[in-house]
Amino acid sequence: MSTAYIGIGSNQGDARAHVRQAFEELAQLPETRLEARSGLYRSAPLDAPGQPDYVNAVAGVDTDLSAAQLLAALQDIEARHGRERPSANAPRTLDLDLLLYGEASFGSAMLTLPHPRMHLRAFVLIPLLELDPLLEVPGHGAARALAAACAGQRVTRLD
Ligand code: ADP
Ligand code: MG
Repeated sequence: MSTAYIGIGSNQGDARAHVRQAFEELAQLPETRLEARSGLYRSAPLDAPGQPDYVNAVAGVDTDLSAAQLLAALQDIEARHGRERPSANAPRTLDLDLLLYGEASFGSAMLTLPHPRMHLRAFVLIPLLELDPLLEVPGHGAARALAAACAGQRVTRLD
């Protein structure tokens, strides 16, 4: 059994509904228990000026799926939400990123862990800290310190 954290984001259509539905779908994954859900947050898009704000959240799961199986399951959920990939940083109905999978630290063509940009993103770190204030990001240190370094990024709690 491994503990994994999943970053959830949407900025197309009813973004809050996509995020809430994603939690329900994560709760239905095989060999997986949804252990924790953060609140919902609104964030300004990074590197994509003019796009709608995002709604973001983080889920914590315990799973017997491998990291690769879990990523494939996340991509299935994205596809069910009509996710298209016209270009990098394009708006999306649903983005599910595998942030952390236990202490795993590796990079392959399909999957890099920890997620390669999570340590720079307040919209990931702030909800993550809700679930575990003492969390350490392998290779990068305490999530709390990483979040403090992203203080310029606008993230507000929605509920
Ligand atoms: P992004 O979320 O970075 O804006 P995408 O969701 O389109 O972009 O993901 C692009 C690719 O990133 C996917 O094809 C996936 O295989 C790869 N990838 C590598 N590591 C991860 C990870 N930890 N979580 C999710 N996707 C990852
Ligand atoms: Mg993604």
